[in-house]
Amino acid sequence: MPVAKSHVSHRFLGEEEARPLVEWMNRVGKKRSKPVEDLLKRLLRVMVGPQEQEIDRADKQPYLAVVRNRTPYAQAVKNLQRELKRLHRWPELTLVQSSEARVYFRWTSGNETVNAKLSLVELAAMDLAWRLRPCKLASCRKWFFARFKHQWSCCTAHQQSFYRQSDEWKKHRQKWQKDYRKLKVSGFVK
Ligand SMILES: [Zn+2]
Repeated sequence: MPVAKSHVSHRFLGEEEARPLVEWMNRVGKKRSKPVEDLLKRLLRVMVGPQEQEIDRADKQPYLAVVRNRTPYAQAVKNLQRELKRLHRWPELTLVQSSEARVYFRWTSGNETVNAKLSLVELAAMDLAWRLRPCKLASCRKWFFARFKHQWSCCTAHQQSFYRQSDEWKKHRQKWQKDYRKLKVSGFVK
């Protein structure tokens, strides 16, 4: 296996941008982050495009079908557009606490759930919303930014725990132990 040398310092696109959002979702807990989670699901649903069964094969212009609001997908787009319109924000002027009088600007809505939704939309605009995931391990479910497509756990330890818990892994282990016993009996291994 190649030596993982640069991986520690390697910057993953969007990870820094997603960090405050991920931390907020984990800090406030499931109930308060629910509206953001719902928005994430709706964003992903819309960005992935219409599902196979929603596309009328006879329809030569699926784009027009969406515009004319003839599909469930069109309804999902419309609902999402309506929700996004409600995410009002403004530039906030903040005075920096220092010996000098300095100011800086930042975008805010004055509401932390709306701010979280805005961060999520920014991530979606970078086409990275799908990387925001809850840990696969049922006892964890912590939000994290997936560095790779196949990453479904917040850390290596939880990835391993998940496989230890899963049926597939149990079967694999049982089979392996059975074979191992056979090998032991055969005298090849001690
Ligand atoms: Zn986890």
